[in-house]
Parts: sequence; C-alpha cells; structure tokens
Amino acid sequence: MQITFYGAAGEVTGSCTLVESGDTRVLVDCGAFQGGYKERIKNNSKFPFDAAKVDALVLTHAHYDHCGRIPKLVAAGFKGPIFTTEATAHLVKLILEDSLRVMENDYQKSGLLPFFNEEHLALAMKQIKPVKYGQKVNSRGGVSFALREAGHVLGSASVELYLEDKTVLFSGDLGNDGAPIMRDTNMPEKADVVIMESTYAMREHEARTERVSKLEQALLYTHKHRGVLLIPAFALERTQEVLWDLHRLSDLHKLPGMPFYLDSPLAIKITDEFRHHPDVFDAEAVKAYKMHHDFLSFPNLHITLTSDESKTINSAPAPKVIIAGSGMMDGGRIMHHLKRYLPLPNTTILVVGYQSVNSTGRRLLNGEKAVRIDGRFIPVHAKIIKADSFSAHADYNKLIKWVTSIRKKPTTIFLNHGEMLPAKEFANFLKDKYDLNTQVPRAKQTFKIV
Ligand SMILES: [Zn+2]
Ligand SMILES: [Zn+2]
Repeated sequence: MQITFYGAAGEVTGSCTLVESGDTRVLVDCGAFQGGYKERIKNNSKFPFDAAKVDALVLTHAHYDHCGRIPKLVAAGFKGPIFTTEATAHLVKLILEDSLRVMENDYQKSGLLPFFNEEHLALAMKQIKPVKYGQKVNSRGGVSFALREAGHVLGSASVELYLEDKTVLFSGDLGNDGAPIMRDTNMPEKADVVIMESTYAMREHEARTERVSKLEQALLYTHKHRGVLLIPAFALERTQEVLWDLHRLSDLHKLPGMPFYLDSPLAIKITDEFRHHPDVFDAEAVKAYKMHHDFLSFPNLHITLTSDESKTINSAPAPKVIIAGSGMMDGGRIMHHLKRYLPLPNTTILVVGYQSVNSTGRRLLNGEKAVRIDGRFIPVHAKIIKADSFSAHADYNKLIKWVTSIRKKPTTIFLNHGEMLPAKEFANFLKDKYDLNTQVPRAKQTFKIV
C-alpha cells in the first residue's frame, strides 16, 4: 500500500490524499488551496496523478479546502462514486456553486480562469452517493470504508479505509467537544495507519465560556461607541454557531438594540439547509429545533441575500453588526465592508476562525497597519480581536485525546492539514511522550506502508 499527500501537506488547505493498494485507488478529499494568488495558481495547475484511474473519492466534509477541486477532478476524467454523508452531499453543492460564481467574478480582476465550469459541477453532483455514519460500504475496485462523526461541521466525518487487512484512519477535520448544534466526535478505537489534521497542533484554545463573553463584550463596545462590529465568518458552521449564540443572548434579553446583518448569500443558503438535517444535530439543538424551527434567527437579524439588499447596510447608521464571508477575508462581501470600516477606530473585527498564511485576516492578526484590498492600501484603525474558542478545529488537548483513544498503537501517524513548524513540533511530542511513529509529509510525498 502507498499513500501520497497531494495537498494539505505542511500547510492547512488543499486536502487531497491518494491511497493505492494493488489496483485499488481511493482519494480522500479533493480540496482547494486557499490564501492568495499563489494558492489560486496551485488550484489551476494539473493534478499530478491520473484522475481517470481513481476508483472512488471519499469526502470528509463540505469545507472548500476539502471539496473545492472535485469538479476539476471530474473534468480530468474521474468517473467513480463520491461517497459522503447526506448533509455534506447537500452542503457541498451550495459551496461549489458559490465558489464557481466567485471565480467567475474574480476573472475580470485576476485574469485567472475558473478551474471548472457548470457542466463539471453538475456531473460531479451526479456522482455523489450519500452514506450513513457507521455503515460499512464495499464498492467497485476493492474500495471498502466506513464514516465516523468528526464533530467539526454539520455532516463532517472521519474515514476508516479497510485495505490489505489494515485500517487506515483519516481524522478529517476534528472539532472540539461541546460545540453547539452538531454532535461530538466519535472517538476512534482501532487503526493501523492514521492520517490526522494538525491545524492547531501546538495551541490550546481558550475556555468555551470565553466565547460568549468575548462576543458579548464586542457587542457592548460596538453599541457604546456607535461603531461597527464585523464578524468574518466561514459560511459553514461558524456562521450558524455565531447565530446560535446571538439567538441565545437575544432570548436572555442581552442583545444591545442595533441591527444585525447576515450578509453572505452562501451563509444564508447554508443556514437554511441546516434546518433540513435535524437528524445529525446534538440533543440541545434538537430541543431548540423542536421548539422553534427558526432557532438560528432572532429579532433584529436582517438577511441580505441580493446585492441591492446588501447595499442598504452601508446607509444604515451605526451601531450595527455585520456577519459576512469569507472567513479568511480573502474574498466575498466582507472585503467591501473592510474597505469601508477598517480605517475607523470604533470598528471591531472579531476573528472567529483559522486564517491562512497569505490571507488578509492573517495580516490583520499580525498587526499590519495597512492592508492591500483591490490594489489599494487601506489603513487599519479598527480593533482586531481573536476568539479561538469559536474555532471549529480541535486544539492540542483534543488531538491528543483523539489519537490516544486508539487502543493498539498505530504503526504510523501522518500529520497533515497544519503548518509545517507546529506540525513538526507536535510530531516530536507524540514521539517523545507516547512513543508514536509520527511523520509530517511534504507536498506530493509518497509513503510505502508495509
Ligand atoms: Zn473543515
Ligand atoms: Zn480543513
């Protein structure tokens, strides 16, 4: 058996891992690289493997860095089934449609052609085969696997591949326990080879209680200073979790009186889609859903789907709160709000997710005094607040708990989906403390498993 890391190796985005055994070829995820221009070039380049020879694709979840290049894979000749959960099957369609629209709009500015078209997308959607958590699937070409709850976003899964009497376990992206709406991670018990994410390998998140208090403080500050609170949110999960918290605060009469805007067409559609999947909610969300199907809404929340509706936000007087994509501030409607509000000292940016190396969000977190948006330098006078506790990714403690729940020591652990330095540090830690043979693959590196 051999495993090749075609993305998310020494970096967070672009997950795409090929497992080959005899004539069997399974790809786990086929995501896009995210960040800036460099990443776009990588997305546009050819796959370094023969897509037509891949028997099946198993998709862990609907985030763009895991599904973004699926239509391109189909365009390159992949004709096999795409296995994923029912919720992911619905969400991935929304995410890919949106990404195509963004690429088409962006073409005028960047001159970079979209790396797939509508036809490829439609074909890819036909190849999707939803499967249930825990269901063992045997498919053509000797592909055998099962999915487990990963607790990262709605519909997210870890993957157990069964090949050559071995279990190859992909963590997929792992979430933190106690996150709202979805269920917690189903911890693994058995694996011979492990491929695990390491986004926050050397970081401990602040306590979950911090999450609501940081949000509350930002709301009060914005209200008091008649400012603007911008929450750049990933359309999938983070947005719904922020809405969940705001809904709660509203129920407790703790929301200051000001308008809230959900200004992301994708996040709006995904929030609607959530209402169709109560079967994968946790107990608390099921209860909230039974009481009120609209449990992700509250008075004062304005949904701005069209660009005309979105423009009304500009003329609304402050204080106001705007939740918009993209989460890493590398595109989407958040960019025009940043241009407008970053120079104002009574603006707050609440950063609720991972920011990749070349993204505007990362530059803001690094404290840059001006950031380039659409060719113009925008001075930064806004307050930038980081709220790790909103992260949908497992921190150091959860990653250790996850990998050590495997009863018999795996022969090899590969750390992907993480920046090189923290991943290497975490690998050394797992070697020293738990005597686990841990590797950090480089891009396109192949490992033989015996
Ligand atoms: Zn993810
Ligand atoms: Zn990811």
